Amino acid sequence: MTNKISKSNTSICQKLVRSDVATMTAYQSARRETTLSSQCWLNANEAGGNRQLQIALSQLNRYPDFQPKAVVEGYADYAGLEAEQVLATRGADEGIELLIRTFCDSGKDNILICPPTYGMYKVSAVSHGAGIVEVPLNSDFQLNINALTKQVGNVKLVFICSPNNPTGNVINRADIIDTLNLFKDSALVVLDEAYIEFCEQFTVTDLLASYPNLVVLRTLSKGFAYAGLRCGFTLASPDIIAMMSKIIAPYPLSQPVAEIAAMALTKQEIRKMRQRVLQCNELKQHVIEFLNKQPWLEALYESKTNFLLFKTALKQPLFDALVASGVMIRDQSSQPQLENCLRVSIGTDDELAAFYDAVNQFNVYVKSKRQQAQPVKAETSNTKQARTKY
Ligand SMILES: *Cc1c(COP(=O)(O)O)cnc(C)c1O
Repeated sequence: MTNKISKSNTSICQKLVRSDVATMTAYQSARRETTLSSQCWLNANEAGGNRQLQIALSQLNRYPDFQPKAVVEGYADYAGLEAEQVLATRGADEGIELLIRTFCDSGKDNILICPPTYGMYKVSAVSHGAGIVEVPLNSDFQLNINALTKQVGNVKLVFICSPNNPTGNVINRADIIDTLNLFKDSALVVLDEAYIEFCEQFTVTDLLASYPNLVVLRTLSKGFAYAGLRCGFTLASPDIIAMMSKIIAPYPLSQPVAEIAAMALTKQEIRKMRQRVLQCNELKQHVIEFLNKQPWLEALYESKTNFLLFKTALKQPLFDALVASGVMIRDQSSQPQLENCLRVSIGTDDELAAFYDAVNQFNVYVKSKRQQAQPVKAETSNTKQARTKY
């Protein structure tokens, strides 16, 4: 017996793997990108703060409930819906995957996405063998309704992220309603509201009553600050929820997860969550002020979320300098319309202080380089004129 990994295992894997899986690129989750040396994680839109929790573990010999009542009813209450309209999942990401598996025939049906947007819709579609139709957002990051109209009948699921990750803006409600009407006989319109706690007034859950083709995705990962828990929710008509329930894993939430999620959804914890959101929105104002002062800032995009997207021609040196200082933010420049864009999460005071320090150090470095290159030329005032979208 040997512990060595045998080479033949690799080749049997190569021989058997589905060709679309072999060629696809794995989703680059922020955690995979985080290097061991980085101390400050502002790349995954997580909230700050740890907690001390007491949970009962005496039932661990039993399988958990398929849909723990306290969790489903707690979330239904919070969202103002009935329990039959709620499916609890292993994060919102599982909701995305289940929708595709429930409604798309592999090799035949398509999903529609509106880039720049969240990366998992594509990854889940590829892994299921569903086609992907892209209808890019307009330059103001709103829906292109004309282009959407042309896809009616061609797609089964339309994914809209609002507020959108990574741009931070909310999608216009009138356009969402137009889209629901456009696809009312041919596709489900999936509104990913992962960041809705940061701007609760923009939710579209009230439209569930009048639009049976609407599905809303939610999570405890962002505003609720439980990214480590892996708990999300799909909100939809009872028949959609029942259909998805047929193919979800038999015990999607482990018992400790269900226990903690139920606690997170009590009135008291929801009040705390709303307080944390207010604090986060205040901190965001500081980060906005800080970024607006940067000589290299080309654009700062308005955000209703716990992150900010900004643009700079110094994207790469700035990103590298931050990594070297142990501060991870996210490079979004590979997405359409996001050339030279970086995204920073609104973390804790301490994390943001580390971010400010690292940026200030970077500025000193850039200035010294510039002085070396052009010893006589003084800095001109127009280098300070950052164009912002505020
Ligand atoms: C973070 C995020 C998710 C994933 O949420 P989980 O519940 O952690 O799986 C889904 N959609 C968007 C837009 C996100 O930013």
